[in-house]
Amino acid sequence: MNRFIKLIIAASCIFSLIVFPVACGGDDAAEQKAPVKKAEATPAVKHEAATPVAQENAKPSPDKAIEMLKAGNARFVDGIPTHPHINRARLIQAGKENQGDHAYATVITCSDSRVPVELVFDAGVMDIFVIRVAGNVCDTDEVGSIEYGLAHVNTPVLVVLGHTQCGAVTAVTHAVLGTGHALERNIPPLVDNIQPAVKLAMSKHADVKGDAIVPYAIEENVWRGIEDLFMASPASREIVKSGKAKVVGAIYDVGTGIINWLPESKTTDILNTVEANPDRAMNAMAGGEHAAEASAGGHH
Ligand SMILES: [Zn+2]
Repeated sequence: MNRFIKLIIAASCIFSLIVFPVACGGDDAAEQKAPVKKAEATPAVKHEAATPVAQENAKPSPDKAIEMLKAGNARFVDGIPTHPHINRARLIQAGKENQGDHAYATVITCSDSRVPVELVFDAGVMDIFVIRVAGNVCDTDEVGSIEYGLAHVNTPVLVVLGHTQCGAVTAVTHAVLGTGHALERNIPPLVDNIQPAVKLAMSKHADVKGDAIVPYAIEENVWRGIEDLFMASPASREIVKSGKAKVVGAIYDVGTGIINWLPESKTTDILNTVEANPDRAMNAMAGGEHAAEASAGGHH
């Protein structure tokens, strides 16, 4: 009898082991797994989001890149930024890959702390090649940096981004109006590119007095930057003429976060004007006289 009872107990144990885990425990397991699966869904989605990043090596067209910048600024303004490309996966990628395969814009803007470039475009690591200088002037070092951005980082767009309330443009305006104050010794050669823009704004809007001219001067300074770039950079002119990249002017409003995109047609007008100017720089490539002679040797 003892043995028989043991057998029954053993058999029921086996039965319960076989049946219950499958019939009941199985459901339990399924119920428990469901939330686990949900919990796993978040990192899984992140993983999926990281995959297209690795595959987006094909650069967007100039128009698409401008669209991306506009969409990013709209998210920033609306307070719904996605903060893309700032996770650890992106850093690892940045350490391994060429920025030239990823960055979709070159932006030159002012050093003003109210113009945080990546934030206002809701962009992240390896997205924007940035040049910042007081008054967003396009002098030699800046033009060289822009050439690097367009010709080597291969960004399909350059944005010359001025901003409202620009202190550099305001200081030059005051200097032109005769109400300025003494400047530190290195500032005049920095902001001398801005002076022609201020004077042009004043001549175009003779009826606008005092500081009221500053907003006009800020826009004129954007156009001046584009003109200075084209005058000094045959490489940039060629890149734009070939359609490989677009140059656009824009003005960032420090009080609203909104970027006012200036007409693209004006860039074309400036390029055409520069192309007709005999004073424009002609040799696209660097090199001393000997290098120039060597490269031109066959044509003599
Ligand atoms: Zn500024």
